[in-house]
Amino acid sequence: MSVNLQTPIDYLKGVGSSRADLLRKELGIHTFQDLINLFPNRYIDRTRYYKINELQQTNAEVQVIGKITGFKEVAQKRGKRLVATFQDDTGTMELVWFRGQKWIRESLKANKPYVAFGKCNAFGNKFSMAHPDLELMEAHEKNIRSAMQPVYPSTEKLSNRGISNRVLCKIMQQLFIDSGGKFAETLPENMRSELHLISKSSALFNVHFPKSSELLSKAQFRLKFEELFYIQLQLIIKNLVHKSKIKGLPFTKVGDYFNTFFREQLPFDLTGAQKRVLKEIRADLGSNAQMNRLLQGDVGSGKTIVAFMSMLMALDNGFQACLMAPTEILSAQHFNGLQELCKPLNISISLLTSSSKTSERRKIHESLENGELQILIGTHALLEDKVKFKNLGLAIVDEQHRFGVAQRSKLWRKGPTSPPQSSRREEAKKVLQKYMTARPSTYKLLKELQSENKKKSTQAEQILWESLRGKKLDLKFRRQHIIDEFIVDFICIEKNLIIEVDGGYHNTIEQKEADDLRTKILNEIGFKVIRFTNEQITGDIDNVLDYIEKQLKSLPSGEIREASIPPHILVMTATPIPRTLAMSVYGDLDISIIDELPPGRKAIKTVHRFDKNRLNVFRFIRDEMDKGRQIYIVYPLIQESEKMDYKDLMDGYDSIARDFPMPKYQISIVHGQMKPADKEFEMQRFIKGETQIMVATTVIEVGVNVPNASVMIIESAERFGLSQLHQLRGRVGRGAEQSYCILMTGHQLSADSKTRMETMVQTNDGFEIAEVDLRLRGPGDIMGTQQSGVLNLKIADIIKDNDILKHARHQAKNLLKTDPKLALPENQVVLNTYKQLTRFKNIWNYIS
Ligand code: ADP
Ligand code: MG
Repeated sequence: MSVNLQTPIDYLKGVGSSRADLLRKELGIHTFQDLINLFPNRYIDRTRYYKINELQQTNAEVQVIGKITGFKEVAQKRGKRLVATFQDDTGTMELVWFRGQKWIRESLKANKPYVAFGKCNAFGNKFSMAHPDLELMEAHEKNIRSAMQPVYPSTEKLSNRGISNRVLCKIMQQLFIDSGGKFAETLPENMRSELHLISKSSALFNVHFPKSSELLSKAQFRLKFEELFYIQLQLIIKNLVHKSKIKGLPFTKVGDYFNTFFREQLPFDLTGAQKRVLKEIRADLGSNAQMNRLLQGDVGSGKTIVAFMSMLMALDNGFQACLMAPTEILSAQHFNGLQELCKPLNISISLLTSSSKTSERRKIHESLENGELQILIGTHALLEDKVKFKNLGLAIVDEQHRFGVAQRSKLWRKGPTSPPQSSRREEAKKVLQKYMTARPSTYKLLKELQSENKKKSTQAEQILWESLRGKKLDLKFRRQHIIDEFIVDFICIEKNLIIEVDGGYHNTIEQKEADDLRTKILNEIGFKVIRFTNEQITGDIDNVLDYIEKQLKSLPSGEIREASIPPHILVMTATPIPRTLAMSVYGDLDISIIDELPPGRKAIKTVHRFDKNRLNVFRFIRDEMDKGRQIYIVYPLIQESEKMDYKDLMDGYDSIARDFPMPKYQISIVHGQMKPADKEFEMQRFIKGETQIMVATTVIEVGVNVPNASVMIIESAERFGLSQLHQLRGRVGRGAEQSYCILMTGHQLSADSKTRMETMVQTNDGFEIAEVDLRLRGPGDIMGTQQSGVLNLKIADIIKDNDILKHARHQAKNLLKTDPKLALPENQVVLNTYKQLTRFKNIWNYIS
């Protein structure tokens, strides 16, 4: 017997409507299919029996064999509880009930062996089990139970309202009984045999009712693979569709700006990785599809120059470019750096942030719109609606994770707009003119027909015409208007809407075909066509007019611009995401990686010091400053407004000022509560070398570039996450000198903090650090992935099942390579499953 898996869960025996409601609300289970995809979190080993003296406070379920030797009732605040003494040959424990006491007391037999199953809690030196599952030993032995009993995800509400794990198991069993355990296969035969995957039916059976641990792992492997395979398939298809459907601005040539810069002004040789990435970008820009690329590169790997040279490609093709950075400081620094490079090339470049003056702003808006301004750098101020480009060809976003996906897509809409609809009308006119010159004789004929038609208009046409003119639509209609080779009945030119009235003779098949063709051609030129029959108009003209009014409302008027061709997008991040995770999270982006630092860099030496060693640390930085180096001291500021953190920073500043007194030592301080101008002033003093020490909060985390700074001291380093620590460390090691990073912490460290410090000391490799970070925090916390929903996997785990993910991606890629349309008969099963999954969007909530 087979069941339709799309059947609502209400129809499963033993569920009913109130349980169904709970299942929907609490677990998102709507259909049989959802239920079957509710996979156990874990399995309880029911082969093991505990002795009472073996019990431990682990909060796990255990089973104990013993006898009830007595009952007592204990009064408590509200009502009373029933307590049974449960005994085996090693000791005693308590079984406790808060409800149903009368019935329980009557049904349980004293001094008979029972198996008690449940969670154990210790109170004093005694263990107790509340509301245990109790089964007489006799019955227990007769039961065939699987060695591994599934434990399903649950919620408090579910268990309070009577859907316990046992009930879930029962419901699941019912589904297997009803379906005869037969479920349609979802992976092709050849793939299954190649990867030794068990069948879908067997996998589902064994994941819910494992016959053995070996079969369980086979079942899990198969289901994890399937889940990841279809996600990868979807991501790859999405990427392919994106490439074929989203038109990009064709950057056909490499021109003067790029070549001159490359030949005459490039301040250093590009690293191999930089060259490779530039080639990848160049290929994207030259294709007809929109570039949507993520550029990953460790701090200091030289992403900026790659960004700049990409912008030159845009300029060479007559387009504008912009670069958006997350902070004022960083965008100012980009601006200052790039301005230098632009000067000799005569490229106009401006900076726009929220603190730009109004007059300046106005100038920028103007020169952007008329195309004089070629490059715009700035913060998210670039996203404001007032900022309109004449023809934005490339948008670059630095430090992607600080901007949401929504902001990325906002940039899309800043591309050059295709001609507004009013000039579609021009197009239509041109077509018309062309038509007149090409076939003047027919045009004459059309003209004659036109006036003829006007004279001979039907009653229906007459009614409609009067109504259209009488109705206060604020829109003008014409009748018997010539468009291309057609005479249309009514037209509203402002909205490009055509209304046709079909007389009796429109009923023949040939005429219908001709009408369709005519509609198609008119659509192509940019008109919407609606049709009415004579009867509709004479029958209920008000209804017809309402309909027309609705259509007019829904249509953009001629002033509204058409969808734009999106600019190419390059997203740069220094927070490396392990490649596999990136593939899953940013599946719609192509990925480039700069995995090579510019030559001559000395690896930063990182050490971990406890606060009590501060004197030594200060001695060390004094030596460094005497050698002419500069120092960063960074304090955590989890929230820029947190008073405590602010106090830490000020206290720190005071103590440093005491140890390094003026005038010999000059200290800058920068934090989030300062005005942007003051921040900038202090930053500039440090950049120019007027101050030797920069005391700061994490505002300097991103992008600041002071090659002479050689020591980074991170205070309360245990409070920073790994990727943040790595980012901060990247502020030093930018010059030729040996650089140092000193992690200061208190003595008491959690295991995770210890691991973070050790990792930082051991490696400078951002990708390695990202992997550790991912392991420590789990994928949900990784920047930018929270909202993506891609990690809401049903059975697979993106980190633990990384190897399976790789297999799955490989298979998906190969499959699409050999059979891009999934047209081969053996891949029919893939096509069907894919269609189903995308139709019933239960696991496909990816970022778009
Ligand atoms: P990030 O990738 O962190 O943005 P930057 O682009 O700021 O790195 O580059 C860091 C420093 O390295 C800059 O001072 C830059 O001029 C320099 N740099 C970049 N590429 C090279 C190279 N190929 N050779 C030498 N120095 C380079
Ligand atoms: Mg940078």
